[in-house]
Formats: sequence, C-alpha cells, structure tokens
Amino acid sequence: MAPGRFWRCCLRGAGWVPVLFITFVVAWSYYAYVVELCVFTLSGNGENGKAVVYLVAFHLFFVMFVWSYWMTIFTSPASPSKEFYLSNSEREHYEKEFSQERQQEILRRTAKDLPIYTTSGSRTIRYCERCQLIKPDRAHHCSACDICILKMDHHCPWVNNCVGFSNYKFFLLFLLYSLLYCLFVATTVLQYFIKFWTLCRRKSTQSCPKNELTDTRAKFHVLFLFFVSTMFFISVLSLFSYHCWLVGKNRTTIVKIGDKSLAMKRNTGYFQYFQVLAQINPFLSNHLVNQKTDCWIVNLNGQRMDLKKVLSDQVYKNMD
Ligand code: ZN
Ligand code: ZN
Repeated sequence: MAPGRFWRCCLRGAGWVPVLFITFVVAWSYYAYVVELCVFTLSGNGENGKAVVYLVAFHLFFVMFVWSYWMTIFTSPASPSKEFYLSNSEREHYEKEFSQERQQEILRRTAKDLPIYTTSGSRTIRYCERCQLIKPDRAHHCSACDICILKMDHHCPWVNNCVGFSNYKFFLLFLLYSLLYCLFVATTVLQYFIKFWTLCRRKSTQSCPKNELTDTRAKFHVLFLFFVSTMFFISVLSLFSYHCWLVGKNRTTIVKIGDKSLAMKRNTGYFQYFQVLAQINPFLSNHLVNQKTDCWIVNLNGQRMDLKKVLSDQVYKNMD
C-alpha cells in the first residue's frame, strides 16, 4: 500500500474515535440509568411504579437522541449538482489558460445561466480547483471529506461528517434531543444523587445504616451519571444556543453576513444574503426542520432592500 494511501486510511479510521467515545458514553449512561438506577436502586427500594414511569420516559428521550445522532452521522453531505461542473471542453480550455483573467472569463461564461449570486471577496467566480466545479452560493470545499458541500456549516468531528444542507436539520435536532436527554437524566437522578451524596458524607463521620442504599457500585454510577449529564447539558446548551442564534441571524458557522465572500457580483454596491427558515416540529417526522433559503438584496450598509425569492430548491435543484 502506498504511504499516502495508508496515511489517508489511518486518518479516516482516526475520524471515528470521537464517535466511538460518544457511543461509549451513551451506552454507559443507558446501563447506569436502566440497570443501576431503575432496576437496582428504585426496584430495590420497592419503588416499582416510579421505575416503570422513569424507564418509559427515558426510552423515549433515548430513542429520539440516538435516531438524530445516527441521521447526522450517516446522511451523506450533499454535493453540487452536475450543471455546476465544467464540461470536458471547458475544463481543458480552463486548464490551458495561464492568465487568471482569461480563466475568469471562461467561468463567467459557464456561470451565466447558473443560479449563482455571490462571488469571492475579490469579486471572482468561486471555483473549486479540487472538484473542478463552480461553487454554488454557500457551498464550500471540505478538506476532511475532500468534496464541495452545499450550504456547508462545518465539519463536525463528533459526528465524523460535514454539517450542511442535507443534514443541518438532523444536527439541530441532535443538539436539541441531547439537551433533553441530559436534562431528563440529570433531573430524575438529582434526588438519588443528593441521597447518595449525603450518605457518603454521613458515612465518613459515622457508620452507615444497613437498610439504606449502600451499594457502592450503584452509588458510583448514579453520582457519576449526574456529573456527566450536567456537564454535557451545559456544553451542549452553549452549542445549541449558538446555532439557534446563527439560524436567527441568518448565518452559518462559515459564512457570516457582511463577509466579503458574500459580495454581490452582478450589482456593484449590493450583495445578497440568505435567510434559513428553520421550522422545528416536535413530532418525529421526516422533516423536523424544513430548510428553505430566501435571498434578500441588501445594500452595503447592511440595510435590507428587497426580498427576492431565490429558494434553495432553485439553487440546489436535482438534489435528491
Ligand atoms: Zn471542492
Ligand atoms: Zn467534511
């Protein structure tokens, strides 16, 4: 095997390490909650009714969380459709040209009929040398995936996938469901956490009553479960709030309004920006967050002038 290929395989394998870490933490939290808390602690204390209610609610949160995580990982990132690629003759022509201006001429000719409204900061047509295509608005090349991704937000190591047009709704839901999962676990574990915690403190000063919950293993799992769920809740909350803010402000992690990369190429003095309309449906359906991209014409002072319907299906047609 060539060293370059071997290195790429190693990098690809290493990309799954954060996913395996999350899977391990989730599997452990399942064991700790179901076995140690509900079966040993609650049933052991004769609280069978409470254990059943906790188990049913826990599985609801767990299934939604795992489903959204799975969908974020395994939804392939969407690439630009074939009309954004240069034809063979155009590509040959482009490669033979050494002058950047002539190359831009070729790109401009090809991009004439494409629904493209933004240019690079230097007002040139955005072209990916690696994929040999004209980049649609908000598409970026991901060096980890080695392809251009439509409406790329970022490459997320925790899902080992690019977050973009095809899976942004799953990513948002993954953040939301992990928040709910952590919140549910932390609040239901809290009273047992306090009980065990005070028991631990009492144990250090006097002998522990025998009929109390004294199983050291269950205690360790419940205490640790509270710490881990609270820690994840706080970190995911900041990430989820940040992404809600991005959606509300019509931004992605990569492209921000006012960036030179959004400078309008056809009307000097104006550029356009995009509004992501995210509609969150609390029920488990195929389209929990509908993504729709509208486009406003904005003057350079940032004042919105006119709404122009350049919907994502026009930009991203032939996606499915
Ligand atoms: Zn590319
Ligand atoms: Zn990527």
